Amino acid sequence: MFRSRWHYALYFYPMKEEIISIGDELLIGQTINTNAGWMGQQLNLIGAGLERVITISDSRDAILNTLKDCLNRADVVLITGGLGPTKDDITKHTLCEFFHTRLVRNAEVLARVEKFFLKRGRTMLESNRQQADLPEDCTVLPNDFGTASGMWFEKDGKIVVSLPGVPYEMKHLMEMQVIPRLKTRFSLPVIVHRTIMTQGIGESFLAEMISNWETELRNAGLSLAYLPSPGIVKLRITGKGPDKEALEKKTLEFEQRLLPLIEKFHFGFDNDLLETTLGDLLREKKLSLVTAESCTGGYIAHRITSIPGSSDYFLGSVISYSNAVKIEQLGVDSTDLNTHGAVSPEVVEQMAKGVIKKLHARCSIAVSGVAGPDGGSDEKPVGTVWIAVAFDDRVVSRKFLFEQNRERNITRSALTGMMMLRQLILGTI
Ligand code: ATP
Ligand code: MG
Repeated sequence: MFRSRWHYALYFYPMKEEIISIGDELLIGQTINTNAGWMGQQLNLIGAGLERVITISDSRDAILNTLKDCLNRADVVLITGGLGPTKDDITKHTLCEFFHTRLVRNAEVLARVEKFFLKRGRTMLESNRQQADLPEDCTVLPNDFGTASGMWFEKDGKIVVSLPGVPYEMKHLMEMQVIPRLKTRFSLPVIVHRTIMTQGIGESFLAEMISNWETELRNAGLSLAYLPSPGIVKLRITGKGPDKEALEKKTLEFEQRLLPLIEKFHFGFDNDLLETTLGDLLREKKLSLVTAESCTGGYIAHRITSIPGSSDYFLGSVISYSNAVKIEQLGVDSTDLNTHGAVSPEVVEQMAKGVIKKLHARCSIAVSGVAGPDGGSDEKPVGTVWIAVAFDDRVVSRKFLFEQNRERNITRSALTGMMMLRQLILGTI
């Protein structure tokens, strides 16, 4: 009776986890440690507290010392790598030494390994048979995708799990064995995430704009992450606690208070894409869209047509890369081109109007800029982009100074153009 109550108490506190990634190839950067990243995501989803990731070489001393250190801090240590049949894979032997146990041949695993080889018509070597030699004192986690089994050790209330390094084998064992076992063994908190998408504002400006709200959010026990990528900043609110409903309610309340503060920049939630949000708006308002693209070379059209069902609103595009195409296809005035240059409000607005007329649409996005790396001048350095959006007879154009990088300039131009058109349709520009 006493024992079972003790067990209960032992596991009912937040779990602390550490990961040990084993492999010389990880240390020299030959293989990127994607396993630890993926495992971190999975552990986060179940509310487990991953505190540390350590990468070490395939060496007995490193494994023994690191495991000892980790177990001083953590309740659960997850190890990947070094379980293969080759001599450089020493994890299994070293774990036997650590847990004072020995290898015994596991008949069930042997049968599975034999079947694995038979199915592939491959000859089995003694080293392959040895994959069925497993520590006497562990729970074997069967691997349906390979010959290296996972191993689950328990000692003094702590858990050590050893998994193969091959990413899909590790993922399979995590999903089928490790995560379900951890969930039943620990009382884990619920994690609630909500992501708010913004475009057209840098993270530091955004932080300043919402700073009071952010303080209140943190005081309420929620946390906030800024996740920037070219042209986009995602704001992720996270709540952690025992009660899912209460957390969702609180997260939603803060979200509702945030939206008016960032109205101009906000376009969606979670994994929403701007091209989807804009597409939905065009469909809802029964509007048609065309693009006139110089420096983006059709990239806006590509992003828009990557969305299934975009034929409901997207008609086509004129990739007006040269001045001749701007003049002949879009009716841009050649004098304006000569006087102001292709990267100018005069030209980009004529492109926006010209493409609407040419392709018979109601809305357009037009872009002309210096994407780089060459072609910049003092007056128009690399990253200078003029964007115009048109909706019936209204045209709005804006100048942007993006970056030195061609690819990022193209991405940012596309996102900005789509956002500006959305604002024009909604009347917020
Ligand atoms: P095997 O039976 O294939 O030998 P193993 O358990 O011994 O499996 P490793 O030898 O360490 O695992 O690695 C096998 C493969 O998985 C290698 O291609 C390796 O680069 C890759 N790998 C190992 N660890 C990681 C990791 N942390 N992240 C991504 N890939 C990894
Ligand atoms: Mg190996």
